[in-house]
Amino acid sequence: MTQKFNLALEPCIVCGSSDIDQTVLGTALADASDFTNKDEMQSKFRYELATCLICNHSSIQTDNPCWMPTRKHDFIKYGEPTEHYSQISEKLKTLNLEFKDVSVHTFSYKDFQLANLLASDLNIPSLELKDFAGCSRDWLPSVSGSISKPQALTSFISEIRESKKSHKIVLITRFFDHVHNRDLLQTILKLSSPSTHIVFDLNDYDRLFELGTLEFIWNERRNFFSQKNLASLLTRASVKFTMFTYESKAVSPTLTGVISSRLPSDMNSDAAVKSQSTNPHLGEKLLALRQHWKLELRLGHKLAIIGASHKGISLAQFVLDLDIRFSLHDDKEASKGKTPPVIPPLGFHSVSGFDFSEYTHLAITTTPIIAEKIIPKLRDSGFTGQFLDFDCRPFN
Ligand SMILES: [Zn+2]
Repeated sequence: MTQKFNLALEPCIVCGSSDIDQTVLGTALADASDFTNKDEMQSKFRYELATCLICNHSSIQTDNPCWMPTRKHDFIKYGEPTEHYSQISEKLKTLNLEFKDVSVHTFSYKDFQLANLLASDLNIPSLELKDFAGCSRDWLPSVSGSISKPQALTSFISEIRESKKSHKIVLITRFFDHVHNRDLLQTILKLSSPSTHIVFDLNDYDRLFELGTLEFIWNERRNFFSQKNLASLLTRASVKFTMFTYESKAVSPTLTGVISSRLPSDMNSDAAVKSQSTNPHLGEKLLALRQHWKLELRLGHKLAIIGASHKGISLAQFVLDLDIRFSLHDDKEASKGKTPPVIPPLGFHSVSGFDFSEYTHLAITTTPIIAEKIIPKLRDSGFTGQFLDFDCRPFN
């Protein structure tokens, strides 16, 4: 059953409809962006999975006012695919810009590698790498009517507007799937002009959800764009764009695009708009996953959740029943003495050297590559229980 509560709903970021199905992820959950000390941890928020009944776009809606929560603490740095960056370079070449007179604008540290590659590939002479997102502590509320623009975004936009170069390339590669507010997204799209060209790069949620996992439903991700959703949003915003998908062997599949009025018109939205409408039924899948975990962990069972702190916390907060006994383990966070935002507050525990003999289940929420490395070590240390992934599926 889909439970309803009074979270002020934002209209669908893609089509603007308010006809939305809500699945409650948790009531009064701790702020999943606050990996902090116990004393400071008070804030509780509601999170829900919202699926638009008109266009099928799914998003996380919350009264947590922070629009890009983990950036508050600037601690999360993990690998994202970069092998496809040369393809972005090729797309930009077709714009026929005078690259000697181009400025490149980076929104966060996640854009630096791409900026360096473009500068060398396209012979862009000067490059100033700035992390507006990471260095700002000023993540302002943007829910329930009173919308303020985060200072970081304002500074970023000012920098672009003040550039005296004939053309500007804006790299805001990990943004569309993190931003939850329609106005913020439109603010970025409005930057597109005959002299300003935007590059975006995000997870390809069509393909992620085809993999049958819900591990990407976590607090920092706000929009699970399908290609069709994104194409529709860009078309509504009246911008010209091109999109391509890339399958990384190492990390997540990505969806990448360039927004520019200089793109040839036949390129516009090519395969993306033609792609079939997907309906991943995320709400139903989430409820099924909760039931699955509930059946797996019964009275007397004890679960350790290992690694990838955010996914671990999402599992604890969004999926597990309140009466399940669990602990969270992450060597990096444990060494910093950080407390994960779960209720009641529990410290992060280490993985290495920890005694798991009393545990019946270990959930590994890291990447499969790391899981493969640590599982034999955990077995060697004497753990005889069940290894599971985020989706409650056993690891071999
Ligand atoms: Zn919609």
